[in-house]
Amino acid sequence: MRVLLVEDDAMIGKAIQEALQDASYAVDWVPDGRAAVLTLTHQHYDLVLLDLGLPGRDGLEVLADVRNQHNPVPLLVITARDSVEDRVRGLDTGADDYVLKPFEMRELLARMRAVIRRKGGTGRPELSNGQLRLDPVTHEAVVGDAAPVLLTHREFALLQALLVRPGAILSRGELEERIYGWDQEIESNAVEFLIHVLRRKLGSDVIRNVRGAGWMVARGQ
Ligand code: CA
Repeated sequence: MRVLLVEDDAMIGKAIQEALQDASYAVDWVPDGRAAVLTLTHQHYDLVLLDLGLPGRDGLEVLADVRNQHNPVPLLVITARDSVEDRVRGLDTGADDYVLKPFEMRELLARMRAVIRRKGGTGRPELSNGQLRLDPVTHEAVVGDAAPVLLTHREFALLQALLVRPGAILSRGELEERIYGWDQEIESNAVEFLIHVLRRKLGSDVIRNVRGAGWMVARGQ
């Protein structure tokens, strides 16, 4: 999953970016509000983390811009502004949740999972197509009754991208977008290699190749 982090504080931004990368997210980080709005008009994200006190354009204005453009991206406000009025304004402007600084990283990660889950409409923490189950907390995959298999960050990110919409075909470029942020170099054949490893770990029929188009996991029963 790809996350846009909007944060002007270099230390906080770096800490969040590293924690998210450790949790298998592809992270792009912009330090001001104008860059955030521009980026969101050009690139699809699975979630936005938005600071409110920003140079260029205030976070609440960024939020209003995003929702006025009918962009439904899950959005979590991360801020030190802690008045009830600020929180209510943020939520009423279209934020999905609100995390007060300072926060513990594991709480932020749990809230991100909750927001993504709610927006995905399943309400369940686990991703599944019936045959294959993926746990976003432990990063373990289970096929049928077999024992859970622990996945690496990138294996998890790739399988998660496919399992969010079983039956949908994702091209190599679309998979790369969900695995790598701007600052990460994409190794050639990385997607093919990850799929090869996942099939070895989970069975060759778990991920299907659709010739010339990309890859998919089967739609659930
Ligand atoms: Ca700030």
